[in-house]
Amino acid sequence: MPTREGPGAGPLASRPDDGEPARVAIDLREEWGDLLARRAEFGVALGAYGEIVEQWAQWSPEPPAPLAWGSAECRARWERGVPLLAEASPAIRAGDLEELLGGVMEHVAAAREGAAPGLQRLAAAWDRGEIGPAALFPAPGRVGAPGLEAVSGLPADLLSFLAYGSLRPALEPYFALCRRHLDEHVWALGVCPFCGGPAGFSDVLEDGKRRLACHLCGGGWTFGRLRCPHCGTEESTDLVRLGPEERDQGYTIVACRRCKAYLKELDRRVRWNARSALVEDWGSPHFDVAARRAGYWRACPTLLLLV
Ligand SMILES: [Zn+2]
Ligand SMILES: [Zn+2]
Repeated sequence: MPTREGPGAGPLASRPDDGEPARVAIDLREEWGDLLARRAEFGVALGAYGEIVEQWAQWSPEPPAPLAWGSAECRARWERGVPLLAEASPAIRAGDLEELLGGVMEHVAAAREGAAPGLQRLAAAWDRGEIGPAALFPAPGRVGAPGLEAVSGLPADLLSFLAYGSLRPALEPYFALCRRHLDEHVWALGVCPFCGGPAGFSDVLEDGKRRLACHLCGGGWTFGRLRCPHCGTEESTDLVRLGPEERDQGYTIVACRRCKAYLKELDRRVRWNARSALVEDWGSPHFDVAARRAGYWRACPTLLLLV
């Protein structure tokens, strides 16, 4: 296993050269604690997520230098329908992700019976340098390279959760300088304009607009409320809302009859005190169970659905 090049200044370091405010670690611990207090009945089931959140907050390697493309460089990609990561090369070292990835592998092994040998093959290939961080990146229609399946013999949903559990601390700061270049007119696709990952959650904001969230890089983008981000249908009869119970006012499941995908949606005009998209998504497994029971699937895997 490669060793880290010293603890470095870590993600808490400021970057005085770009004039941005000091970046802080991806620290969702307080949000997660608040969520658990609200949904105490899920405490045990959500334990692994709490450990992932803790690992992210404690991630100590220096994050990759942020992508410094200006507005024109970003727009040129977006106008072609290309997410930035498809043409960028973040300097994420395999050794820097190793601890995060190792932790997520343990959770996945515990969740999916029989996955351990495949995960061991994957870890061995990682150690030999045959696969690295870029193999976890999203590509059209998938998250994670086909090579991961070849080397491990494991299914795609399980492998893609490895990306969700390990990439965010590196990818979120990588796009920090490019976020401001995005406006709602330049990107109309249902995947993340920054990394290309599928929509992970949907928020309805104060102004009634819909914002989709990417859990891989923490990106967000405006998207039509009456459109399916997965297949693009705008037929009003294709989209159904699976209503939540009384106590979950403000939350809904938006499902598509055409492609059978669903996304959880939170109306922040109703739930003004709700937490960030990832926390709300991971913290509401009962909606996933309901959606799956109704015959729908989600593009972005959760740990509990691997069980
Ligand atoms: Zn993204
Ligand atoms: Zn659809």
